[in-house]
Amino acid sequence: MTNGHQLRLYNSLGRRVEDFIPSGDVTGMYSCGPTVYVYPHLGNMRAYVSADTVRRALRWKGYQVRHVVNITDVGHAVADTDTGEDKMEVAAARERRSVLEIAEFYTKAFFDDIAALNILPADEYPRASAYVPQMIEFASVLEARGYTYRLPSGLYFDTAKFPRYGELAQLHAEGQLEAARVEQVPGRRRKTDFALWRAEEPGRRRVLRWDSPWGWGAPGWHLECSVMSIALLGPHFDIHTGGVDHRELHHVNEIAQSEAYLADGKPWVRYWLHNEFLQLGGAKMAKSAGGAPLLSDLVAAGYHPAAFRLFLLGGHYRSQLDFTTAALDAAQATLRRLAARIQPLRPLPAIETLTAAQAAAAQAAAETLAAAGPAAAAPAVARALDDIDDAISADFNTPRLLAALQDALRDPDITPDGLRTVVAAADALLGLGLATLDPADLEQRRSAGDLTAGERHAIDRLVAERTQARKERDWDRADQIRAELDNLGVQVTDTSEGPVWQLR
Ligand SMILES: [Zn+2]
Repeated sequence: MTNGHQLRLYNSLGRRVEDFIPSGDVTGMYSCGPTVYVYPHLGNMRAYVSADTVRRALRWKGYQVRHVVNITDVGHAVADTDTGEDKMEVAAARERRSVLEIAEFYTKAFFDDIAALNILPADEYPRASAYVPQMIEFASVLEARGYTYRLPSGLYFDTAKFPRYGELAQLHAEGQLEAARVEQVPGRRRKTDFALWRAEEPGRRRVLRWDSPWGWGAPGWHLECSVMSIALLGPHFDIHTGGVDHRELHHVNEIAQSEAYLADGKPWVRYWLHNEFLQLGGAKMAKSAGGAPLLSDLVAAGYHPAAFRLFLLGGHYRSQLDFTTAALDAAQATLRRLAARIQPLRPLPAIETLTAAQAAAAQAAAETLAAAGPAAAAPAVARALDDIDDAISADFNTPRLLAALQDALRDPDITPDGLRTVVAAADALLGLGLATLDPADLEQRRSAGDLTAGERHAIDRLVAERTQARKERDWDRADQIRAELDNLGVQVTDTSEGPVWQLR
């Protein structure tokens, strides 16, 4: 048995693939979590599935992980700016509920989606509102060290005092720094300077407000991640994850304030991992775009959450991925075939690590050997496990991992016992729930009411063409159209009133 391939990952800090070397017995991992003022959409969920893949890969390699995901329930201004209204308060006004109710409601929606997608729960989900005294303390230290200046609108971090500012985003030139921000804040020295404390505007009392050395107000959005990660993981930890948009600003600011605070000359976090966006119609799927689909929309349309997870894993986390109905249909069909293929192999063994997979494979090989004499089973299983380990070790290459699983399922040299081990091992990393997924739950159950006007129109047109072909006794054409409709899942019945169609 070996420890397998060296885990290598793409570090945004330096923009290169590096060996992962943990700093201690426990690997600390922090992922920027949701601002709980709206339902999380499918684009948001990509970040959490990506982080879950990292987490599962670390577990596979035998590392003990402590994972923290923050819940932003205060401090995040509309449009990610330093001034103006807080997202939570705008949502509370919109929905005529208290800020506390809004936070509770959307935090629960987030947890529901996390569970539906089979994402391993984090060890801690700290709420920003519970850490405001620590944030005030943190900002006071920065002020005492001369990293800040005061304005009527709050306390600002002076990025000119931090020479490495922007390293993560690879923003070095002043011109680029200028372009990075658009918001005008009176008195701000550099556009990259950001608020540590957002003071209450005169005459505009905030709903969520705390007293501080800089007056009544609320913390800046970036502060919570530095404060809560250091509080829960220690001053330095191994991995920080988030969407690629955070690489340009939020994480740049987290690094500046944390390293200024720690002042020990060491990099705050060693590895920075960023997932690419999910695209919808060629544009980034974002809250501000409006109408971005939710996981519950997919479920209502007859898709299984695991099909969305498989769709995400079918792309590498650092590649943009286009969300289309056709791609999701294909993922659900693939998953249905996988579940049907695996069903007769159940129950699957409980496997979380490479070492456990290797032990199970060795045991299965020994049993095969005892029962049937020398067999080719052992090397084939070992090779399949090695392919799986190789794929996940290569910067979390889930498309290759899926291909390795499909190859193993087609390999005549692998015995059913060996396959059980391989499937359980692959799913320890994929998290698709292959041990229990019921193929019957993966049938498409779209009803005609779910179709868009365009889709209905296209079906109506095909049905009319078929009627016309039948009238003209062009049976070949009529059959061809019926086959086309069949492909779309449309069933046509000819009645005395004319043809009617429904979705199967
Ligand atoms: Zn963050």
